[in-house]
This record gives sequence, C-alpha cells and structure tokens, in this order.
Amino acid sequence: TTFAELGLIEPLTRAVTDAGYSTPTPIQLQAIPQVLKGGDLMAAAQTGTGKTAGFTLPLLQRLATTPPESARPGRPRALVLTPTRELAAQVGESVDTYGKYLSLKSMVMFGGVNINPQIRQLGHRLDILVATPGRLLDHAQQKTVDLSGVEILVLDEADRMLDMGFIRDIRKVLALLPARRQNLLYSATFSDEIKTLADGLLDNPQMVEV
Ligand code: AMP
Repeated sequence: TTFAELGLIEPLTRAVTDAGYSTPTPIQLQAIPQVLKGGDLMAAAQTGTGKTAGFTLPLLQRLATTPPESARPGRPRALVLTPTRELAAQVGESVDTYGKYLSLKSMVMFGGVNINPQIRQLGHRLDILVATPGRLLDHAQQKTVDLSGVEILVLDEADRMLDMGFIRDIRKVLALLPARRQNLLYSATFSDEIKTLADGLLDNPQMVEV
C-alpha cells in the first residue's frame, strides 16, 4: 500500500516522498484512512512507530480540503496537545515538513518562555496550534487564543500528560472546545485514568494498536 492509495492528496504524498518515506508504517496504514474519514481514534503507540505522521498527514488534508467555518486571527482549526515543549516542537516540525506544499499556518506554544512573541503570533491567521496545556490555558484566559473553532483535537502522549498532572488543565481546555469535533487520543499505555478520559472524549473510536 502506498500513501496515495491511503487517499492522501498529491501535496502530501510529494512531501512524504521528499522526506524519504516509501511505504506507510503499520500505524499509518490504520490511522490515515480513519482520520481522513473524520472518525475518532484511540491509538496505543510508542514513539518511533511513525505515529506523528500518522495523525499529521490526514489532519493537514482535512484542513486543506474543507473551508474554515470562519477564519479569524488566533483561532485554530486543529489543536494538538503535548506533555512537553520538546514534543510540541517536534510535532510542529512534522506539521511544517508534511505541510510544506500546502498553505496552512501553524504555531507551537509552550511555557517557560516569554508570552509576548506568542501573543504577537496569535494576531495572525492560524490553522494548526501545537501546545502544552498550561501555556494554552494562560492564553485562553487572556483571550489571546480562541478555541471555539477547533475541528480536530489530538492528545499526544496522553499517559505522560496525566503522569505530569495535566488532567485538570486538559479538562479545562476541553470545556473551551466546540462539542462537535474529531478527537484523536494517543497513549503508550492504557491505565484506568486514560480509559476514563477516552470514554468522555471519543465517539465510536477506531482502536489502533501497534
Ligand atoms: P514518530 O513515531 O512519529 O516519532 O516517528 C519516528 C520516525 O519515523 C520519525 O523520524 C519519522 O521521520 C520516521 N517516519 C515516519 N513515517 C515513516 C515512514 N512511513 N517511513 C519511514 N520513516 C518514517
């Protein structure tokens, strides 16, 4: 199976070819068609499996092929939450790499750095926001970000976010999102706490394990 056979559009298959990938990994084979369909997904996957491209590619395609309900500065259509700034930066790089032939705008935000450059960047158009929960909530409280237009939510390494004590922050973020949206949950392990989160979050999800 090729990336094109999974249904990806040419600007994405070209970027994938540029990245040197010839065939999709097992998690990509399962995740890409499901995300393209608009369905929810729960994936048990470690890093190194290609999970990031597995959600980034179809997420980019969903945004590129459907018009925004209303485009406003600081109002992303996709939100990726990560536990750490390192992972946020890594996901942001993947978004840039795979989205290089599309004209979508992305931003990475995390705490521990000056908030003002982030506020400035939020004054511009934004399609994909990759963020750690604490700093995202700071922006939400200051109304420098508007989460009411989020169509796709990704929780990446959800088990680590819970381990790091982000569950309250995550719940606060969820409360700011529109009810109708697509949800993708990635976790290396499935504790009862993750299952509880998934139960409240996901609608008829496809389960993927690699
Ligand atoms: P991840 O599991 O998302 O952290 O990705 C692990 C590594 O696999 C990254 O360095 C990607 O560039 C690489 N990768 C992702 N998809 C593929 C693929 N289909 N073929 C070869 N390498 C890939």
